[in-house]
Formats: sequence, structure tokens, C-alpha cells
Amino acid sequence: MSRTVYVNGAYLPEEEAKVSVFDRGFLFADGVYEVTSVIDGKLIDFEGHAKRLARSLAELEMPNPVTEAELLEIHRELVTRNDLDEGMIYLQITRGAADRDFAYPQDAEPTVVLFTQARSLVDSPAARTGMKVISIPDIRWGRRDIKTVQLLYPSMGKMAAKKAGADDAWMVEGGFVTEGTSNNAYIVTRTGKIVTRHLGEEILHGITRAAVLRFAREAQMEVEERPFTIAEAQEAEEAFITSASTFVMPVVELDGTPIGTGKPGPVATRLREIYLEETRKAAT
Ligand code: PMP
Repeated sequence: MSRTVYVNGAYLPEEEAKVSVFDRGFLFADGVYEVTSVIDGKLIDFEGHAKRLARSLAELEMPNPVTEAELLEIHRELVTRNDLDEGMIYLQITRGAADRDFAYPQDAEPTVVLFTQARSLVDSPAARTGMKVISIPDIRWGRRDIKTVQLLYPSMGKMAAKKAGADDAWMVEGGFVTEGTSNNAYIVTRTGKIVTRHLGEEILHGITRAAVLRFAREAQMEVEERPFTIAEAQEAEEAFITSASTFVMPVVELDGTPIGTGKPGPVATRLREIYLEETRKAAT
């Protein structure tokens, strides 16, 4: 069945949803995006995603063509029109179409595209078994805090993981883990401390990360925001990742070495439960 897609103010059947070949998103990856999860037809942490979108646009000196209220309205309309119960809403804004030139065009209209993807998120086999991860060098550009659509290296990382019989890759820079290809990375030390890299330009400021760290602290769990190495992760009690579409997902193997018992641990399992419970309550 054909989905309804949003393109620049219009709700269209996906076959009719088109953007220009001169779009700078296509030519220069000159665009930003957000992914918001939908559970029971409701948006998870919409406000966090809208705020980060505004920040990404501002960092790239791109005009913000939609207000937060308009954006919420479009998200809700797509949920309704596509009868979406569980899945994701993908949003992309590019600088728009203009003659090809490295310098930003002065008069381009931003392109705004949103579409839905139905998918089972809460009931996940990977949450029960845990994920296997490999490490790869982090050779991405230096502004990973901006959520741009330049995702080729993360794609390559995901493919390297698949070829190695793993599920994902953790990227390493200067000896320390930055993040996963599309998620933030965490370990739980032998003393039960949750460790994840501090915020900065080296990683994306995950919306799920912010929520999970808040819930962990509220549950009296100890949290330390600092870099960690692959060796430290292999010695850890547990490991896990977070992202808007995977929530909290245990990691049970790193570069072929089992982590802890080699099974999903109690901290990751508990945090997944708390996250789902709390965000469902707050869903809009
Ligand atoms: N890091 C990277 C590189 C990502 O692509 C993502 C997912 N978009 C995340 C972290 C997690 O961010 P969020 O929790 O906002 O989905």
C-alpha cells in the first residue's frame, strides 16, 4: 500500500513525492534530519527532536522553514494518514535546490520531507539476545554534533559489521570509543557505574541518551560521562547502546570478546524497561 509522504507543504502518495536533481541534499549532503519513534500512535520525545533539529539548522546557517508547532502538526497528520501504530517518522530538511556551487545559495527555499516507516520497535529479538559489535576507526568529519545526512561512513561501518557476522560497529578515535554507527555507546563497570562519552563535537547529542541518563540518575544509578577504551569495554560488566529507534539495546560481544556473562545484563534490561515505561507515559 502506498504511503502518504509530506513534501514542501503537500501530502502526496509516495510515487508522486519528488525533489529536484539540483537539491543540495542530493549534490552536497547539505541537509539535516531527525528520526522520531511512534509507539501506540504517539510520538516519543518529539520536543527533544524538534529542538535538536533547530540547533542543527542554526549551526549550518540554514533557515528553519517550519515552526515547532507546524512540525508537530505534520508528524501527527502523517501518523493519522498512514494509520501508523508503531514505527518511525523520518524528517529531512535541506538547503534546497540551486545551481551547483560550493557557496551557499542566498535565495534557495529549503526542502522539507517527512515520511513514515512502520516497524515493530518495542518487541525486539535483539533486546532479548543482545548485539554483537566490532570496533572500527572513526574517520567521520569533526562536527558529529550536527545531525547531517552525510551517512556514508556509518553505512560502511554497518556493512563491515555485517561482513564480520556482527550487528553494528563502535567507532574509535584517539584510542577512545566515540559512538556507534547510529547510536550512543555505554558500558557498565564492575562497580556498577554507567559510563558514556561526554558531550562535545565528537558525538551526536542523542535524545535517547539525555532521557536514559536522566532516568538512570533518578533511579540512583551512578553515571560518569567520560571516554572509555575498547579494552575497558571488553572488561566491563555490561555494555549497551541507545537511539530513538532502538531505545536501550544490550551489547554482549565486542570484537569477538563476550562482555560480562555474554548475555543482556540487568542494568541495560532495567534501563530499557524504565525508558519504555516513562517515555510511553510522556508520549504525545
Ligand atoms: N549517534 C549517532 C551517530 C546517531 O546517528 C544516532 C541516531 N540518530 C544517535 C547517536 C542516537 O541519537 P538519538 O537517541 O537522538 O536517536
